[in-house]
Amino acid sequence: MPQEPVILLRGVTRRFGQAVAVQDLSLSIDAGQVVGLIGPSGCGKTTTVRLLCGILAPTEGTVRVFGLDPAGFKGRDRARIGYLPQHFLLYTGLTVGANINFVGGLYGLGWLQRRRRMREVLELVELWPERGKQAGDLSGGMQRRLALAATFLHDPELFFLDEPTTGQDPILRRKIWSWLGSLRQQGRTLLVTTHYVSEAELCDRVALMDAGHLIAFDEPEALRKRAFGGDLLELITHRDIYAYLRVLEKMRQVRALEVRAHDRLVIAVDDAGRALPEVVGALQSQGLAPESLREMPPPFDDVFERLIRQHERRAQQERAEQEEGEPA
Ligand code: ATP
Repeated sequence: MPQEPVILLRGVTRRFGQAVAVQDLSLSIDAGQVVGLIGPSGCGKTTTVRLLCGILAPTEGTVRVFGLDPAGFKGRDRARIGYLPQHFLLYTGLTVGANINFVGGLYGLGWLQRRRRMREVLELVELWPERGKQAGDLSGGMQRRLALAATFLHDPELFFLDEPTTGQDPILRRKIWSWLGSLRQQGRTLLVTTHYVSEAELCDRVALMDAGHLIAFDEPEALRKRAFGGDLLELITHRDIYAYLRVLEKMRQVRALEVRAHDRLVIAVDDAGRALPEVVGALQSQGLAPESLREMPPPFDDVFERLIRQHERRAQQERAEQEEGEPA
């Protein structure tokens, strides 16, 4: 029997007065994945997470988590979820340890279990040595890690993490993603929002949002291919770049060509592994030997920019077609 998705949004719209924060959003997430919810500031990520936690109700559409409407969650349903809000409130006058202890009490963890889990989660987020410090005396990044530790404490099966890596240095950001990866390996499901688009790489799937719309939901590699119509090769030559262009534009495998600098060419192909030797062969037959020719995975900034632009173009086209179809 097919498993029910852990998270299901169907035609969800959320308005605030005249403003539309999320529009006609449909998304289905199965257990055991790390899904990144990524997009520009104000695109609706936090609203989506708050809808899934039952903090907000949809204006239209259906929200289901574990097959239930989050608005009707009982205590035992909430205990299956770990929610890191964008602005987690810590008791700044309490120590790190006392904050964790307090959260453990909220989840009904016994004294012994609390002690064991406190050590586990504080060690994980590298705050065990700071356990006696007042939370208000920690740096912003440390406070965020303390909030994350509090979210991990009751060992939930589903996580909604709203910007867990904000304010962390690049090394800690990597570490946080590796903690999330190990939770996934234990069968947990994670929905993670982030501003750092490069973190898309570290997700199993990425939901890309723009202006309240979900514009893509796929594996990172598939998004790359979609944005550029295939894989990319980068060619560098110190000789006449147009001689290369003339050969390449005749090749059936080449889908697009772009001169990025006087000595740098980007070539879109269906499959880099297959195309690379063929491109080398075609160039060699014309006596051309570039300084370098290699597969170039485009950075996610470029991927997202392209996907957003493609989406906007499509939306514009649809609007224009609609207007044309309307009676004068
Ligand atoms: P950021 O990355 O900056 O946190 P976001 O993608 O999480 O942004 P949201 O916080 O979901 O975006 O906001 C989406 C839109 O909805 C924004 O235009 C925001 O101003 C609006 N919005 C969100 N919450 C409210 C609210 N409570 N009242 C009115 N407007 C709101």
